[in-house]
Amino acid sequence: MKFSILSKGDKKSNDIRSKIKNYLTEFDLDYDEDEPDLSISVGGDGTLLEAFHTYSHRLDKTAFIGIHTGHLGFYADWMPDELEKLIIEIARTPFQVVEYPLLEVTIWPQDEGEEDRYLALNECTIKTSEGSVVFDVEIKGEHFETFRGDGLCVSTPSGSTAYNKALGGAIIHPSLESIQIAEMASINNRVFRTIGSPLILPSHHTCLLKPIYDRSFLITMDHITRTYKDVKSIQCQVAQQKVRFARFRPFPFWKRVHDSFVADDRE
Ligand code: NAD
Repeated sequence: MKFSILSKGDKKSNDIRSKIKNYLTEFDLDYDEDEPDLSISVGGDGTLLEAFHTYSHRLDKTAFIGIHTGHLGFYADWMPDELEKLIIEIARTPFQVVEYPLLEVTIWPQDEGEEDRYLALNECTIKTSEGSVVFDVEIKGEHFETFRGDGLCVSTPSGSTAYNKALGGAIIHPSLESIQIAEMASINNRVFRTIGSPLILPSHHTCLLKPIYDRSFLITMDHITRTYKDVKSIQCQVAQQKVRFARFRPFPFWKRVHDSFVADDRE
């Protein structure tokens, strides 16, 4: 089996990276950054997001696992004191895989140029630095509302515990193939009206955002931000591809939610 390791870059993460690399190569596993079967990230959720985007072109071949060098993370759910156990489990391959849904975002320019297509593990957010965003929102080909406000966040089920949660969105189990649209400070008064609640779309429904004014948009895919001018439309839907996490022990989603958000240090 081939593996790669991405470190957050701090000393603790780099030391763990060297340790895992040495042990796994002693177990006759091959280190291969180009075509790994397993991508191990050491740092935090942000490091796993980076690993995901590094290998997003080969999700059917690369599985992911994350070790957290700070507090328990949502994706980075192995702690440094479990390292030896994890190394032995990895060396004993093959491993089990758990698949989670992803978000596909397509951005069309106003001219006849090529569209850009992205995958997100957590979410896509659409904001502007030029006042409010104003766009027509279509759901499954029908006009739904005209949104005015700070922006929109469209998240995956596993991303529902990230930015989406801070916006009052629901936490969605990743077995539900869906995306969630959450508002950021929508303007609601006698003139402007939005639904005001997060919306959850199934896998066969798309959401299309059509800007009404020429603005430049700040569009994030997870931790990556891009600036776009002259956007004709932005489409969000559940992606065909899925992310695959290597599972070496059960850690059910609701336990992860509990341990990340509800449990306190006195438990
Ligand atoms: P960061 O360093 O600002 O970390 C953001 C925090 O989000 C970290 O504590 C991380 O552990 C946590 N996180 C990431 N994915 C998560 C998930 N699926 N469930 C629960 N918590 C999660 O930024 P980063 O590490 O580069 O991560 C980028 C992510 O930060 C974005 O995808 C977005 O979800 C999140 N974010 C959140 C807010 C907010 O909550 N107000 C604002 C901006 C970005």
